[in-house]
Amino acid sequence: MKITVVGSGTAGLLSALVAKNKLPKAEVIIIADPDTKVIGVGEGTVASFCQMLESNAGIDIDDLIAKVKPIVKYGLRLNFGKKDFHYAFETVYDFQYDNKGLPQGFYFDGGVWGQSNHSMNMLNKTNAHAGRVTGAFHIDNKLFLSYLTKLCNERGIDIITDKIESIQREGDNITSLNEKYVSDYFIDCSGFKPLLSKAKFHSYDNILLNDKALFFRTKTTDTLKPYTQATTMNCGWLWRIDHSTGFTGNGYVYSSKYITDDEALTEVQNKLKIKIQDSRVIPFKTGRLEKHWIGNVITIGNSDGFIEPLESTSIMAILKTSKDVFDIIRYGDKKGDFIDRYNKFVNTYYDNTRDFVFLHFCFNDRLDTPYWKDCKKLALDITRDSIAYKFIEYYLINGVQLKYLAQLCSDENAYQIEGYWNILRGLIPTDTDRKKWRALYNIGIHI
Ligand SMILES: Cc1cc2nc3c(=O)[nH]c(=O)nc-3n(C[C@H](O)[C@H](O)[C@H](O)COP(=O)(O)OP(=O)(O)OC[C@H]3O[C@@H](n4cnc5c(N)ncnc54)[C@H](O)[C@@H]3O)c2cc1C
Repeated sequence: MKITVVGSGTAGLLSALVAKNKLPKAEVIIIADPDTKVIGVGEGTVASFCQMLESNAGIDIDDLIAKVKPIVKYGLRLNFGKKDFHYAFETVYDFQYDNKGLPQGFYFDGGVWGQSNHSMNMLNKTNAHAGRVTGAFHIDNKLFLSYLTKLCNERGIDIITDKIESIQREGDNITSLNEKYVSDYFIDCSGFKPLLSKAKFHSYDNILLNDKALFFRTKTTDTLKPYTQATTMNCGWLWRIDHSTGFTGNGYVYSSKYITDDEALTEVQNKLKIKIQDSRVIPFKTGRLEKHWIGNVITIGNSDGFIEPLESTSIMAILKTSKDVFDIIRYGDKKGDFIDRYNKFVNTYYDNTRDFVFLHFCFNDRLDTPYWKDCKKLALDITRDSIAYKFIEYYLINGVQLKYLAQLCSDENAYQIEGYWNILRGLIPTDTDRKKWRALYNIGIHI
């Protein structure tokens, strides 16, 4: 069997490695245009990162730690809402500490963050497995891509430098690319402008407003922060991601409807009290294709779907979808209706991610700019039968005890109850706040 991957960004390299791991006898090649640069950001990851790299792509985490030198990410610190709060990647809501008799959720006041040492211990090899405490890393994108490229070379995956300029099709199938690359499957990892797929794009821009990021690096001057910091800005938010290599990755994610690139640069310089010498504006579109697998063409990565980066979900989506794709291909002729089911599954997966990320914007009343006012309007317009609204409604009535909502979190919902719990608890912390939002949503309560 031959599998051809187009693109050598994070999606292309990881998809090729997952293909080779799942189908060791397959011939896997990557074709990438040297003149179309990869996105080159993507430094935050999620709690399932290590486990998925190991089991889906066959990557040895100790080797990755030694060569790429990531730091452990324990979650996010959100400078959102009334008071900063943490979204910790731990199961916290149901713990009972101090025999107080009620779950931890009732007493939670922001989490425990004396954990910088874990990262340093991991790098100093005194505790090489600390990463698995949470499973998430901050990882330098450039080093990560070089590492993945080297692994591809070692595992017999050919990386061919060429630009795809013509596509030969028969019905839904592609028969060859540039009249010479023939393959059983074509994996489209060509970035925000999908090259091979004929599927329609389903935009999320009516809910998630941001469409640009101003990316820049600064020198890390204080203690490494083992979490991603997300700070409210006038027209979006600013990320801060520390690395062991002496620099911090930063990005102002904003909506171009509310602010220009120059204004964004000025705002961020004023906020951080620095002069930024080198920066890059990265436009993006949020949404997903309506179908992810048509004929022998499968889209993975930004070509397939993208949710703005507040929860760093893209690499997770790449690892999750590529695993499913190559598991299904392994079934050969016995695939049945798996392709249809896969298409529906991936739609639900992206829609859930959209709703989860949207929640972060719903209740952030730290600033009263036109952008944040519009976010609040969108929050109140949320579709009443969406999963996000079910969580909101339950939380506004019952508070932090979310465990009776377990039935709402199926396997496609990567954020689980703890994710929703952390965000709602952080943004709507008190009974008075819950009461205010109940009134805005017109939710009655019977006691
Ligand atoms: C602002 C921002 C912040 C992000 N932060 C995070 C984060 O913290 N965590 C996270 O998980 N993800 C993050 N992401 C997402 C992350 O960048 C992507 O998941 C990742 O870069 C995957 O990109 P890709 O491989 O799909 O596409 P790209 O990196 O764009 O690669 C496309 C590839 O296709 C090739 N190509 C294109 N056209 C042709 C052609 N005609 N012929 C041959 N080859 C071609 C290009 O040469 C390139 O190799 C972020 C994204 C953005 C925009």
